[in-house]
Amino acid sequence: MNLPDLAELELPELESLVATLGVEPFRARQIYRWLYRRGLDGVADMTNLSVALRQRLQTEVRCSTPRVAHQERSTDGTRKFLFELRDGKTVESVFIPDTPAMTFCISTQVGCAMQCGFCLTGQMGLSRHLSAGEVAGQVRVLARELDLSERKFNIVLMGMGEPLHNYDATMKALRMLAAPEGLGLTPRRVTLSTVGLIPALKRLAAESWVPNLAVSLHATTDELRHTLIPTSRTQRLEDLLAACRQFPLKHRERITFEYVLLDGVNDLDADARRLARLLAGLPAKVNLIPLNPAPGIPFARPSDARVDRFAASLARGGIRVSVRKSRGQDIRAACGQLIVEGGPRESAGQRAAARLSEA
Ligand code: SF4
Repeated sequence: MNLPDLAELELPELESLVATLGVEPFRARQIYRWLYRRGLDGVADMTNLSVALRQRLQTEVRCSTPRVAHQERSTDGTRKFLFELRDGKTVESVFIPDTPAMTFCISTQVGCAMQCGFCLTGQMGLSRHLSAGEVAGQVRVLARELDLSERKFNIVLMGMGEPLHNYDATMKALRMLAAPEGLGLTPRRVTLSTVGLIPALKRLAAESWVPNLAVSLHATTDELRHTLIPTSRTQRLEDLLAACRQFPLKHRERITFEYVLLDGVNDLDADARRLARLLAGLPAKVNLIPLNPAPGIPFARPSDARVDRFAASLARGGIRVSVRKSRGQDIRAACGQLIVEGGPRESAGQRAAARLSEA
């Protein structure tokens, strides 16, 4: 039966639902707190509701919560969770304990349609979007499992999927988590990472609740970017950076530009100089990500000396730069390594490499 799902409701929607049941509105806030603060999803255990109300809710609503099907712990403390969704599909989320705050890396889609040539998730293709409740549900469960519901933590939307390709569900999930009766998440604690879908980026810029923005650039020419991120073919770097220049930033805020370094492909001195020129005048910081190699990814990680040289060149060009420390590589939880085994393996990476060798 298609019962209303508590996990998919923002607080005002839950208030409307309890009103239709003839229940006082403050009951909605109590239920919301049980869901988000206490990590409970069984109505039977919501002990400050009357027995009669609990019995009624048990027959008139449901609550879908992703189930932890498997978890792994890295030697560096990173933990990877495999979540099973209501239809049996699975996604991965990662907990990084000291970054310096605690961080949850969350998925927004099963697979991804963007086909980035250096990313295992991209090889899966898109299976489906996650619902808002499934995105927020990963956070609810992680906060409960890690006993962090009353502590501050960060969220990065950098797991499986392109958040702006699943715009409505992603933004609804963030509103659900931001409610004071939920986890009280503030925009400063959330970073949305995107390949930069320009229409969605403009939509995000007009929101009242705007997370930190991280844009995956990865190349300094349209030609190379279109090869590494095939779905970016419909847009030019120039237009993407123009949209970034118009993105609303508060005092001292910066857009992070992510740049995965691929040996001999985009890590040359000329690339670093071009990148500094492209970002000139933008409140930007560059996060360099030396490739996390994985079977099936036909690119290599540059040497540390090459990474340092690239970073130094950017710094000389006046760009704030950091190099991302790889976390959880031994359990394949590092950037670009999330994949659910058994999915379709269209080798986007191999196609990208073939295009580069033809060029
Ligand atoms: S890097 Fe991100 S956007 Fe690109 S394929 Fe992987 S998950 Fe999708």
